[in-house]
Amino acid sequence: MQKGKLVVLGSINADHILNIEHFPRPGETVLGQQYKVAFGGKGANQAVAAGRSGADISFIACVGQDDIGERIRQQLSSDSINTQAIEAVDGETTGVALIFVNQEGENVIGISAGANAAVTPDYLSKHQKLIENADALLMQLESPLETVMAAAQLARKHNTQVILNPAPARELPDDLLSNIDVITPNETEAEKLTGIAIKDDASAQQAAEVLHQKGIKTVLITLGSRGVWLSQNQQGKTIPGFKVKAVDTIAAGDTFNGALVTALLEGTEINAAVRFAHAAAAIAVTREGAQPSVPWRKEIDSFLQ
Ligand code: ADP
Repeated sequence: MQKGKLVVLGSINADHILNIEHFPRPGETVLGQQYKVAFGGKGANQAVAAGRSGADISFIACVGQDDIGERIRQQLSSDSINTQAIEAVDGETTGVALIFVNQEGENVIGISAGANAAVTPDYLSKHQKLIENADALLMQLESPLETVMAAAQLARKHNTQVILNPAPARELPDDLLSNIDVITPNETEAEKLTGIAIKDDASAQQAAEVLHQKGIKTVLITLGSRGVWLSQNQQGKTIPGFKVKAVDTIAAGDTFNGALVTALLEGTEINAAVRFAHAAAAIAVTREGAQPSVPWRKEIDSFLQ
């Protein structure tokens, strides 16, 4: 089978996660229970989901000149990702998320963009051939917005399909939205983009209409365990997800996006591509963690049998 080429442009983070009894107050020190470092960042999670589900994928990103950056690059290679466009930036640290999780499972997070901020339009132009020669470009919003906008514009010029997962939630300029082919907000992100709270089918379709009016042909609003709202040609419907026993929904959306793009690049029509992505995300929510929970192609195929 002839597979299309995918480029992911996005973030790489090292997540430092500490479980503690309660969040420290200013000046307080709290002894933690369990500490771990996990590889994350929405760009990296989605690249891993695409690589493991079978895409021919290159990843444009930056790490710092540090040990963890090198370890992350090696891990991404072993997840079937071409890492030639991941550079280690002089004098920078790899992006970091410092995460406290309390006994109620709530979290507080501080982020240092670090080397992710070095994914500038100049950096993009060094690797622009990848986008020019690709069939699809998948991005999120953890990279500088001016780079996301420049990449979308470049892709449009070269007939590379643009898929945007608009996370984390923020408003976006029309100049960017008009260069997007497929957008995949969750309910919070859809509300932030359109001003319409997603409460039912009618409001989901209203939000989709706003995005269609900006020039986006395919709108997929992810609805957690309920699946997605798919709208094309001004017509919308729910495509339900799979019922599984969820233990940890971290990276559900990232897994959905990576697998969706893999299927689209294999020429799968949209309904079946969404079903494939639902299966990948359903497997991911039955397992703990972000990247460790992302399934390989064999697992998705046998889930769907
Ligand atoms: P995000 O993680 O970006 O907030 P969602 O929560 O909307 O995204 O979930 C994205 C996709 O992950 C859903 O469309 C669905 O395929 C899958 N998913 C999420 N939660 C569950 C769940 N509890 N059971 C099965 N699938 C789920």
